[in-house]
Amino acid sequence: MEMHVQDAIQWFQKTNEKIQQNKDYLTSLDQPIGDGDHGINMARGFQEVEKKLKGAEYTVVSDVLKDVAMTLMSKVGGASGPLFGTAFLKMSMATKGAATIDIATLAKGLEAATEGIKQRGKATEQEKTMIDVWSPVAYHVKEATSIQSEVLKEVAKQAMDNTKDMMATKGRGAYFKEKSIGHIDAGAASTYYIFEALAETLKN
Ligand code: ADP
Ligand code: MG
Ligand code: MG
Repeated sequence: MEMHVQDAIQWFQKTNEKIQQNKDYLTSLDQPIGDGDHGINMARGFQEVEKKLKGAEYTVVSDVLKDVAMTLMSKVGGASGPLFGTAFLKMSMATKGAATIDIATLAKGLEAATEGIKQRGKATEQEKTMIDVWSPVAYHVKEATSIQSEVLKEVAKQAMDNTKDMMATKGRGAYFKEKSIGHIDAGAASTYYIFEALAETLKN
């Protein structure tokens, strides 16, 4: 596996496609245990990401990731913007200067991203947030000897589904206490699309 600049750009184009297609679904997940804006927030942010990447030239993947981070931080309202922004910024820093990303570098990047979200959100696993998808995916890539698209997708999907039975203790979901159980977390779902897009990108 090698991720080049063009792959990284494709990763975020595909992510944007999925977020736009599932905008209403993401918002519907944020309705019972949030404020019903997650799809709107993410659709706005990733639209801007696509625009930003289209208008720039890159020689290293870390610069793509940095622009993704900065765009999400400035364009996405709500908790998720700074959290996804931090994730991609940490990933950019951990992969800085590498013209292509191999599996070990990707693992390092995903680990740094996960740690970044945890710090920024003062949260950890099992609190029913996006961390519950980032963390198992980062672990999977760290342990894997090669990237298998279908396996990566399945790990992310299972992780997203697992948030359904969790009780939220961070974010708006925490206000709902026990009532948050039984719903998939919205940020976990959008994180799933991010990794579904990555899996599809690395397949080619
Ligand atoms: P807001 O809650 O401000 O409306 P969004 O709806 O865009 O923001 O995003 C909500 C998502 O952000 C949640 O579903 C959850 O995955 C994630 N989230 C919220 N707070 C935290 C936190 N402290 N740590 C990690 N993730 C969080
Ligand atoms: Mg919301
Ligand atoms: Mg909001």
